[in-house]
Formats: sequence, C-alpha cells, structure tokens
Amino acid sequence: MTKTINIAIDGPSGSGKSTLAKGLASALGYIYIDTGALYRAIGLYAARHGVSAEHPEDVVPLLPAMDLQMRLEDGGNAVYLDGVRLGEEIRTSTASHYASQVSKVPEVRAFLLETQQSIARQNNVIMDGRDIGTVILPDAQVKLYMEASPAQRAKRRLAELLAKGENITEEQVLADIQKRDANDAGREIAPAKPAEDAIFLDNSSLTPEETVQAALAIVEKKLRTACV
Ligand code: C5P
Repeated sequence: MTKTINIAIDGPSGSGKSTLAKGLASALGYIYIDTGALYRAIGLYAARHGVSAEHPEDVVPLLPAMDLQMRLEDGGNAVYLDGVRLGEEIRTSTASHYASQVSKVPEVRAFLLETQQSIARQNNVIMDGRDIGTVILPDAQVKLYMEASPAQRAKRRLAELLAKGENITEEQVLADIQKRDANDAGREIAPAKPAEDAIFLDNSSLTPEETVQAALAIVEKKLRTACV
C-alpha cells in the first residue's frame, strides 16, 4: 500500500491551528481532521450523562456504550454522537471546559488513539490537536507547531464566542485559555508540547492567508526532501 502523507499541526487554543489546517487541506487536496472535536464530543457525552466536569474520570465506565464516529465528509471530518452529527453545541465555553477535563483521562486518550491513527493510515491528512506530532503521528512527514501571543489568541476566541451569542468578556476568555493551556501542558499523559522535529510558526502578526502561504512553503520544502 502506498504510504499516505500526514501533516501534524499542534499548538495551544486559539493559535489558529484549525484555520491553517483547513487552508492547507484545501490547497493540497488533503483531508482535514480536527481531533479536538473528538474530545469535545466525549465532553458533551459526559455532560449529558451527568458527569461532573471536576470528576472527568467518571466518564470512563460510559465509554463502551458511546456511539462516537468520525466520518469523512466534504474534505473534512464530521463527528457523530449517537447517530447525530455534532455542530455548534461542542463549541461553547462549557463544552471547551469539559473537553479539556476529559482529555486528561488516560482511558479517554487511549479510546481515541486508534480512530485518529487509522484515518491517517488510509488518507493524506492534515491533523490538528495537541499531541499529533508527539503521540498520534510521530512519523508525520511534516510537523508544525503554531504559536501566537495569549492576548492575540484571546481576541480571536472572543470574536468567535461573541458571534455565537455568548455573553463573555475578553478577560474571561483569556483566563479560560490560560487554564486550558495549563491543563494541556501539565497533564501526565500526552502533555501538549512541540515534537522535537516540529517547525514553529508564529502567526501573531500574520493574516490567515499569509499563514497558509508560510506553511505551504515549509510543507513543500519538507516533502521535497522527505523520501515520499
Ligand atoms: O482544539 P480544541 O480546542 O477544539 O480542543 C478541545 C480540547 O481537547 C483542548 O482544550 C484539549 O484539552 C483537548 N485536546 C487534546 N488533544 C488533542 C486535541 C484536543 O487534549 N489532540
């Protein structure tokens, strides 16, 4: 079987990973996989089953009965929970908090590992998350690590949440982002960190289009030199 091309994009919340990943996927004709949506779906499932966000480990006994599917649709991934395609309900700040909490649970990470790896074995993908270059796709041909200042990240998240009608301030968004960063970086299993061979891309002062162009130049150079 021909080896697929895998591009890993990691970085903290609001660093512009998903905007870049979508832009790269459409420029290269690869499939975009948003792994955060899987953690968000498990967070939503936990919330719906009365699990407290402060005891995320209580979701573990519920995992075997959960019907969670990732389907490839329209060049990207759609996540289905109990047969229903998930949309904006996994993008609220409560859903973000639950996602961050369940993502610390080793059984949750183990549960999602094969789903992510099998999609990358079968398709050319741009996959974004926190541990893609380090744990999920350590052999990815290209690994990018996105950075942007916390203030810039908070501004972007605030705009998204306000557009969805949430009543939230920039200070609250910044505090949430910092809390989730600390959770991600401090957890024992698969802490969020750049892979040793990741290439850093700081987009604090770049437009989304400029970020895609900068990343495309990195990808093209890497793929020319990687024997694929
Ligand atoms: O990327 P997004 O913000 O949608 O991810 C939601 C949460 O899921 C993150 O705050 C992070 O805690 C967790 N996550 C993770 N590993 C990934 C992707 C997301 O731990 N690969």
